Amino acid sequence: MSELKKIQLPQVVYEYLEELVKEGIFSSVEEAINTAIAHMISHASRYGYDSVKKKANKLIEDYTRSVEANKATLERYKEAGVKRYKWLSTDDEATCDKCRELHEKSFKIGDKNAPLPPLHLMCRCTIIPDMDK
Ligand SMILES: [Zn+2]
Repeated sequence: MSELKKIQLPQVVYEYLEELVKEGIFSSVEEAINTAIAHMISHASRYGYDSVKKKANKLIEDYTRSVEANKATLERYKEAGVKRYKWLSTDDEATCDKCRELHEKSFKIGDKNAPLPPLHLMCRCTIIPDMDK
């Protein structure tokens, strides 16, 4: 278990956890991390510790990659003169309420308060240019 604590979380993950705290989903970053670790441990007995650790690292890597990719996409839109983007979420039973709520919503590029996927680990949401406006 002590080894789990050695997993280095990228800065972006901390920022994300801080956002979850701000949104009231967790009362503190520590609680958010503990919840995530508890979740991993609850799966460890079933899948084995190494596979869970690998999975956790992969989730964080995927999340970080997705954050960077969507930022780059937004930058490309801006350069192409696109003013707004539309949020698209996958609509199935695994889609969380927050992502579902954002589906097909339009946001101004450059608005610092506008949400950008991923909203959470394993978020499958994406963005497209919004040409309607
Ligand atoms: Zn999502």
